Amino acid sequence: MIEKEIQMKTPPNKFELSFEFFPPKTTEGMDKLRETRSQLAKFNPEFFSVTFGAGGSTRDRTMDTVLEIQHEGFQAAPHISCISSSKAEIRDLLLAYQAQGIKRLVALRGDIPSGEVSAGDFRYASELVQFIRAETGNHFHIEVAAYPEFHPEARTPAADLQNLKRKVDAGANSAITQYFYNADAYFRFVEQCDALGITIPIVPGIMPIYNITQLARFSSICGAEIPRWLKMRLEEYGDDMTSLRAFGVDVVSELCDTLLAWGAPSLHFYTLNQAGTISNIIHNLSE
Ligand code: FAD
Repeated sequence: MIEKEIQMKTPPNKFELSFEFFPPKTTEGMDKLRETRSQLAKFNPEFFSVTFGAGGSTRDRTMDTVLEIQHEGFQAAPHISCISSSKAEIRDLLLAYQAQGIKRLVALRGDIPSGEVSAGDFRYASELVQFIRAETGNHFHIEVAAYPEFHPEARTPAADLQNLKRKVDAGANSAITQYFYNADAYFRFVEQCDALGITIPIVPGIMPIYNITQLARFSSICGAEIPRWLKMRLEEYGDDMTSLRAFGVDVVSELCDTLLAWGAPSLHFYTLNQAGTISNIIHNLSE
């Protein structure tokens, strides 16, 4: 199989898109991200978001990347994770973003780092959302995380749904999901949210398939299921990365088509700072 050539026709405008980056560590990484951004900008995204290392480890790099995106004229949404941070640290960050005219945040707890960790002032993302609203009123549009296949630490599915409700009651405007490959898990989750009176948009997070080892590692950490049929098909490609990625593009395009056809409000892509595979997927959707 040969990966489809990207032939951009009219950028699709039937649905909203957003793209997530991580803040690069090197100048080469920053250059590569600029190139990625210019390719993805053709799709008129609603915003670009930039991740934040738990405990503030990428604080400056996240800020620099976000400001660069904003100066290019795009809406930039920094992620903020609160685990092992103090209220004073988060307050400073909010003030800095507010002063720079940033209007959207992705508010998270963050993964609990292994080893010695300072406790911090926040236990859960709902407390962060509450704090952001108390400190900055309605300045920010706040996105939070949601888990159609449930967060790995959740005591029960119902408890995890209640957690999303707490984040919404605290002031979240919309949610982005952890990635998944079972569309049914998303639809069932949205139905359950609806039954609980959670009416904010719940945007599917889409993870393109680049590499089976990397995907299996991410999935074991975040609890996203790789269905057996998909895992077996991917393993069958062995080292043939071209065919694996072409197959991945087909699978993820179909997933996106199904999600949009059945009412997903928009799509949020986990880009891993790469544009090619995602462009192919979106190109398929615009046909
Ligand atoms: P929370 O909503 O606080 O939930 C964490 C766990 O605690 C859940 O199991 C929940 O059910 C449980 N819980 C919550 N409240 C209570 C309560 N009162 N009592 C008992 N249990 C409770 N991580 C980063 O470090 N940086 C990033 O930039 C980043 N970006 C992300 C973007 C998206 C779209 C997503 C989906 C995840 C992202 N993550 C990021 C990962 C995220 O930080 C982890 O999944 C983390 O483990 C949980 O974060 P949360 O905001 O969902 O936490």
